[in-house]
Amino acid sequence: MDNFKYYNPTKLIFGKGQLETLPKEVQKYGNKVLIVYGGGSIKRNGIYDHVLAKLAEINAEVFELPGVEPNPRISTVRKGVEICKREDIEFILAVGGGSTIDCTKAIAVGAKTDVDMWDIVTKKERATDALPFGTVLTLAATGSEMNSGSVITNWETNEKYGWGAGAYTFPKFSILDPEHTMSVPRDQTVYGIVDMMSHVLEHYFHQTTNTPIQDRFCEGILTTVMETAPKLLNNLESYEHRETVMLGGTLALNNMLNMGYRGDWATHNLEHAVSAVHDIPHGGGLAILFPNWMRHVIDDENAHRFKQLAVRVLDVDPTGKSDKEVGLEGINKLSEFWTSIGAPARLADYNIDESTVDEMAEKTVTATPQYGNFKKLTKQDSVEIFKASL
Ligand code: NAP
Ligand code: FE
Repeated sequence: MDNFKYYNPTKLIFGKGQLETLPKEVQKYGNKVLIVYGGGSIKRNGIYDHVLAKLAEINAEVFELPGVEPNPRISTVRKGVEICKREDIEFILAVGGGSTIDCTKAIAVGAKTDVDMWDIVTKKERATDALPFGTVLTLAATGSEMNSGSVITNWETNEKYGWGAGAYTFPKFSILDPEHTMSVPRDQTVYGIVDMMSHVLEHYFHQTTNTPIQDRFCEGILTTVMETAPKLLNNLESYEHRETVMLGGTLALNNMLNMGYRGDWATHNLEHAVSAVHDIPHGGGLAILFPNWMRHVIDDENAHRFKQLAVRVLDVDPTGKSDKEVGLEGINKLSEFWTSIGAPARLADYNIDESTVDEMAEKTVTATPQYGNFKKLTKQDSVEIFKASL
């Protein structure tokens, strides 16, 4: 493996009733609090009232930014930055899923600079400071609750990019109560499962040798999530299964799995291009694209990696078959698994046809002409993967 440093300062507060710790945690950072949330799910399931009651215990002065969109937009980030500056906000609390948390990360950085946040998201400018922020997670999926990454969309230019600012964009704390995810509807639960599995798979495909511990960690999370998913989807209010999946989502992308190597991330780049043009759910896009990325890049040299996944995670019998045959069988089984839990399999499921393939492919290479670490891809590869996904 490669040399590495591991740094993750987020305090994870996990389990039933852990919202009780909120006042004590917030108090460390200040009294003027901006709470950021989405389209209203937290009002319907009672989490909003509970959070406000907890903040009242410390007499916090509370400001609100509601309405963060799934695939959060730079326009909403700018609104949040404006509130922080106008009201001298001291602490931001994200209450929601990955979109709300990602938006909060951008607001936290934007509040401490005169630079427009889009210039930081697009890496023209650098973050130099940030307001402290914490999260109350309500949806198991992205891992944003324990990493420093964020994904922001510019709906005027149809661009969606991942960015991060190291120490500045790690949450100070994240409260993960599986009960907060009980009300997540079936489709969003499925997208979350696909997203966390995709994060593990992005890690898994790398070119570094001797990563046996990391491989088994990845395989352990994949097999556990795959075992749990159908049970959870049969009983969306199972605390036990919500708990398993919630921890799986966090571990899948707190960068513990990729100690000592760099994962691929081409499929996330492809999905961001699709969402930037069509505003589809991230997990839905990944379920369509990941198997097609795999079929596109598998070759005789790298097939041993696909074979390992197929045998250890997808129960493929390798007897008498070439590595590539085993790998391809594994890819089909992964795709079948996602379809079996109700994830989409074709871009046509979102009414996406050939007409935007070139536009989407162009967006995969706006940041760099080549992308992906397991195998370098170009715009032409994007076109082929999108066409295979139609
Ligand atoms: P999300 O976009 O935050 O939320 C999806 C939907 O679920 C929203 O409509 C939301 O409703 C609803 N919801 C959330 N919690 C709920 C609950 N407890 N009960 C009922 N409904 C609930 O979903 P996400 O998958 O967590 O985040 C997706 C975004 O994260 C994408 O932009 C993706 O690109 C990005 N992402 C980030 C990272 C990272 O590391 N930072 C990694 C992967 C993906 P309300 O809006 O009404 O709350
Ligand atoms: Fe993701």
